[in-house]
Amino acid sequence: MSCNNLQYTPLSEIPEIYARVTKTFKAGTTRPLSYRRHQLLQLARMMQENIVTIEDALLADLGKQRQESTVTELTPIIQGSINAAESLEEWAKPEKPKVEAWRSSWDTTIYHVPKGVVLLISPWNYPIILTFLGLIGAIAAGCPTVIKPSECTPTVAAVMADLVPKYLDPAAYAVVNGAVEETKMLLDLQWGHIFFTGSTRIGRIVATAAAKYVTPVTLELGGKSPVIVSPDYDLELAAKRILYGKVQNVGQLCVSPDYVLVPRSVYKPFVEALKKTYASFFPTDPLDKESKWGKIVNEPNYRRVKGLIEETKGDVILGGKWDDTRLRVALTVVSEVKLNDPLMEEELFGPILPIVEVEDVDEAVQIVADRPYPLVIYTFSNSNEVKEKITNRTNSGTFVFNDTQMQLAVHEIPFGGHGESGYGGYMGKDSYNIFTHRRGYINVPTEMEPFYAYRYLPYSEESYKVMTQGARVKIPEA
Ligand code: NAD
Repeated sequence: MSCNNLQYTPLSEIPEIYARVTKTFKAGTTRPLSYRRHQLLQLARMMQENIVTIEDALLADLGKQRQESTVTELTPIIQGSINAAESLEEWAKPEKPKVEAWRSSWDTTIYHVPKGVVLLISPWNYPIILTFLGLIGAIAAGCPTVIKPSECTPTVAAVMADLVPKYLDPAAYAVVNGAVEETKMLLDLQWGHIFFTGSTRIGRIVATAAAKYVTPVTLELGGKSPVIVSPDYDLELAAKRILYGKVQNVGQLCVSPDYVLVPRSVYKPFVEALKKTYASFFPTDPLDKESKWGKIVNEPNYRRVKGLIEETKGDVILGGKWDDTRLRVALTVVSEVKLNDPLMEEELFGPILPIVEVEDVDEAVQIVADRPYPLVIYTFSNSNEVKEKITNRTNSGTFVFNDTQMQLAVHEIPFGGHGESGYGGYMGKDSYNIFTHRRGYINVPTEMEPFYAYRYLPYSEESYKVMTQGARVKIPEA
């Protein structure tokens, strides 16, 4: 989708940028921990000293409220950068694995080395955090990086192109702005790692391009993340926590609750609870000119979201209104949605919440298990039995019990997809790991030579006997 009036990087400049950052990598400039630490703290400063500029840009492109922008996009970058700067020494320490006694003199070590120059391609929905969270890992690992922001958030992309060279070392970190043509040109080059966040469709294109040079890739993709409501849970609280997740960035969030599966026995009271929460979240019409309710990012996405509401065979019980001039769509709850409804085909990525009636939790689990692995499965229940059912019978990037979206605040667990929702979890130390190659090292002492007699040609019956002992070890009873 071409979306804007952003000034694209001239194609002729891309090889120069690539050559510059590659030269920096080869010179070893980004390797010293002191350099990485400085760049990480500069990244934190870049965010902190430009809070208002970045909030303004997010407001212009997405109508994102200032509180949401700073809480969900800026703060995690400031804190993540500081945390990485402070943890760097420990993360980067060479590992000394425990080895068998006969190899104890070999100095067996795993050194951490940067994978190389990184290409980082980011989406429009959380354009700041989904660019710089990856960059934290790349800087920490010692990798120069070329950033390709989404062209669909042009104000933010322009701010990035302006700020990055002012705060970070321009010899190692660069922003290339553009759309398909520019990205294709970048993908034609050889990288140490490609870190992509976006749709599954484009993720496939990226992985295919990466295969040309056998480049390692991280794919942070999307999909339909379900919510299962168990009858044992407080329905009003479930409704509140689900709608809280759904209103974030007007539903344009990769881990937005996509659809809700509700057992028949509690279907009606759950719908009533949703109505009550909706009324409390929106005391005035979200489509009022004064309302702070955010916008759909651009015309094509606006038409897509509106079209979905027009096409559904379900019962639109809340919302179902839009404003063509301001690209606003009210949060729309659709009841009585069947599994073959248009709302159940693709990731909704907008302010629509379909509610599907199921027989019981077992049927809900089966529906989820029959679909591609989502980025996250949300479940509301206090029952261990339900937790175990979902743990054992389904799969997903993350599994969250009794809330939505809060996994993003937990940087001790990897955040990422599985199967069609992508691969390669990151955040905290996992971000550092993504861009780090664990390079094995041994130094075999000359003094080993007397023990090596049997490994050399010509082999004999005796050498066979000695050297194949390992194959005849006793296998433990099961
Ligand atoms: P997108 O896949 O359309 O675009 C992502 C990036 O790819 C952009 O920078 C874009 O310029 C580039 N691109 C577009 N077409 C290309 C092509 N043909 N070849 C090469 N590059 C191309 O995604 P989007 O619309 O920006 O974001 C929405 C999607 O991203 C949703 O599916 C959402 O779930 C997913 N997402 C995932 C995460 C996550 O962390 N897993 C986070 C946010 C969004």
